[in-house]
Amino acid sequence: MDNISLLYVFFGFVLWHGLGTSIGYHRLLSHRSLACRKWLEYFLVFGAIFGFQGSPIWWTSIHRSHHKHSDKEFDLHAPSQGFRFWNYDWFLQKTYPSFIIPKEQCVDLYKDPLYRFLECDGDWPKAQWLNFFWIAVVARMVLLPVLGWQGVLVSLLASVFFFQMPLVFNYVCHIPKYGYKSYKTTDDSVNVWWIGLIWFGEGWHNNHHAEPGTANMGRRPFEIDPSWIILKCLKAIGLVTRLDDSKKMPQERVPVAVTVK
Ligand SMILES: [Zn+2]
Ligand SMILES: [Zn+2]
Repeated sequence: MDNISLLYVFFGFVLWHGLGTSIGYHRLLSHRSLACRKWLEYFLVFGAIFGFQGSPIWWTSIHRSHHKHSDKEFDLHAPSQGFRFWNYDWFLQKTYPSFIIPKEQCVDLYKDPLYRFLECDGDWPKAQWLNFFWIAVVARMVLLPVLGWQGVLVSLLASVFFFQMPLVFNYVCHIPKYGYKSYKTTDDSVNVWWIGLIWFGEGWHNNHHAEPGTANMGRRPFEIDPSWIILKCLKAIGLVTRLDDSKKMPQERVPVAVTVK
């Protein structure tokens, strides 16, 4: 493979992981703010798993808890937990903390046999091995005949690069001095324009915390949400069957709690 092709592989994988996480894990599984064809859902989910985001039920449980306890004691991702904990200690835990009960908080996902299988019945270390090693690393080798060794290694590099990005950006979007608020919420979430533009629209984080049930994170004209644009295109060709939007302007909104439909 020449260098240009390797560059395509790198950014192609980052794009797959990004859409898998932003649309698949976040807006679709965690918030149910859209519905799509099942094969597309699985394509997005595997994009997230290959990007080292772990089991869908694991990710969704922790994210729903993040919304429920934002910036408080039970928020595993809160900057107040300290750098070491939010950065990697939480990930190395052996069990779910007592306040996260996936079978109760992710009843909807437990109905899916694939997600149940990937969750290994709540055995956290076993599920991490399955998702982070056997699928994201070993199963990747099926790409060898297509991409060759160099291509597979570059794809792995892209996935490793991607691994902590959602976590880092979520962290930055909960530090008030780095952004602005359009909504008065009970947490520290802010909109950070550069994260919004480069990271699939996820940087419009205060908008998202104010209204987690909508798939559109941008509110003002300059708050461009690339994932939303892609979702609109997918809706136009029938691959996305439901897309929840908000038409109200920021000042009309009031903080709402996360709702899982
Ligand atoms: Zn969310
Ligand atoms: Zn947040």
